[in-house]
Amino acid sequence: MKFSVLAGFLEKIESATKRSEMVRVLSEIFREAEAEEIDKYVYFCQGALGPPFKRTVIGLGEKMIIQSISRATGLTVQDVTKQYIKLGDLGLVAEENMGEGKEDADFLYVYGALQSIAEISGKGSVEGKINSLTKLMEKTKPKGAKYIVRFVEGKLRLGAGEATIIEALTVSVKRGRELKNTLERAFNICSDLGLVAKKLFLEGVKGVKEIKVKPGNPIRPALAERLTSPREIIDKIGRCAVESKYDGFRCQVHKKELEVKIFSRRLEEITDALPEIVKGTKKQIKAEEAIFEGEALAFNEETGEFYPFQVTIQRKRKYGVKEMAEEFPLKLFCFDLLYLEGTSYLDKPYIERTKTLMEIIKPGETLKIAERMITENPEELEKYFEDRVEKGLEGIIAKRIDAPYQAGSRNFNWIKLKRSYRGKLTDTIDIVVVGYFKGRGKRVKLGIGAILGAVYDEEKDLFRTVAKVGSGLSEENWMKLKGVLDKEATPNKPARVDSLIEPDVWVKPVYVLTVKADEITRSPNHTCGMKNSEPGYALRFPRLIGWIRGDKGPEDVNTVKEIIEMYKMQ
Ligand code: AMP
Repeated sequence: MKFSVLAGFLEKIESATKRSEMVRVLSEIFREAEAEEIDKYVYFCQGALGPPFKRTVIGLGEKMIIQSISRATGLTVQDVTKQYIKLGDLGLVAEENMGEGKEDADFLYVYGALQSIAEISGKGSVEGKINSLTKLMEKTKPKGAKYIVRFVEGKLRLGAGEATIIEALTVSVKRGRELKNTLERAFNICSDLGLVAKKLFLEGVKGVKEIKVKPGNPIRPALAERLTSPREIIDKIGRCAVESKYDGFRCQVHKKELEVKIFSRRLEEITDALPEIVKGTKKQIKAEEAIFEGEALAFNEETGEFYPFQVTIQRKRKYGVKEMAEEFPLKLFCFDLLYLEGTSYLDKPYIERTKTLMEIIKPGETLKIAERMITENPEELEKYFEDRVEKGLEGIIAKRIDAPYQAGSRNFNWIKLKRSYRGKLTDTIDIVVVGYFKGRGKRVKLGIGAILGAVYDEEKDLFRTVAKVGSGLSEENWMKLKGVLDKEATPNKPARVDSLIEPDVWVKPVYVLTVKADEITRSPNHTCGMKNSEPGYALRFPRLIGWIRGDKGPEDVNTVKEIIEMYKMQ
């Protein structure tokens, strides 16, 4: 496919006002793509070169991109910058100023060139990258240059999530629900949508079904539902394992002979940040090949206590790893086994998986087994919960004893009971920003008075509004937030947003913020949980806490279902 043809499709996706339109255009792209290279189209449409765990960083900062545009268009750097300030999008600056060159490279050429730019490193790499980008822009039409620039800036943001792409793949081969489930299953165990698409296009459904768990490919994590009391938990799943809920970050560890890789909950590789877990795995795991999960926590050797979450989370940083590992060493509390010596453990019952897990971990410094008890008695569960809370832990996770590990799924096989659910709404809620309102009164000078926030509807793959939030930040930070949001502003409502409220500025659903609210109420204004004649749900007195969450993507915010459950629990 010529890159300019793809650019035409991308424009259609951008102007789509409904999710179904977006799915249709994506499916057209996939249908017209070369089957052997379908994976690259899938990655590109997600704004990346490769799956999340193998993401190549292109390494072109804004200044470098401005240089390239200047060289490709003949404008001075100052002029490019001026236009950028005016248009707010370097892609548009490139599009408007590039000449209609004769060349129109293929998509595959562009993809390959982007990979080569990412690979340039070492001395002279800045100049090398700028130069290669200039040449690449000259090989496409102006419309193509627009998308190349947005891509290298990390701002392609078509708004197509994984579920949207799976649906588009299904539509592109004209198949229904059953295929969608097969694709989802395969995706859940390999986390690589490009691979799934390629299998489908080259080998059909049979090929997709042959995708297996493999060390090196992270498995999408199983997630927990929540309930509010020990009694409800026992009523729901009966005799169960009750594990301590540690408040750190989740690690999925893959060991293959002497190689160890660690993936985050978002499936990014974080091996380099966690040297002591790598070492601990090599020392303590009695297996050639294994995939297991645990929660990592920073431990204070002096006091024998865990550090608070804020300290632990710093360990995900890329810099000063050695010093950090010495000052705040981590322990990994292991709670599940997903694969061992060539065999997937996903379909084995919890009790068998954990029994084997205990057998393959030698006692040692770093890897520990998550503490647990087994009970069918609500009072006993309550006592254990209280005891955990007293020890400073977050609460417990109850696990169905005979349940398989359901990758990528949130259900009652795991049920969390946290300190904060009991009584008032003290739990925080993550929302994605979909728009903002210009300020009134005192806020006029800031240009922003409140944001419109949404939660995720997993079933329909849409973002539905749940709150207008206008407090919690300093004036300075409101202005800073406006600056960030303006870069994602879009003239129309984004296709996957469902809203009755029209903000002054629509914003692509990219940024996640955490809010605290007093309670959840029914509301005719918000679309979260709204059904034909029934009102939706809204947060009462919401306020922002903290800054944009770098560790969460739009589909990781709280779900409509969770909001409804929290409402019922109040
Ligand atoms: P939440 O993020 O509140 O939905 O809770 C689920 C998370 O708790 C998991 O993704 C893990 O990171 C973490 N966690 C802590 N302890 C455990 C445990 N024993 N079993 C499973 N998950 C745990």
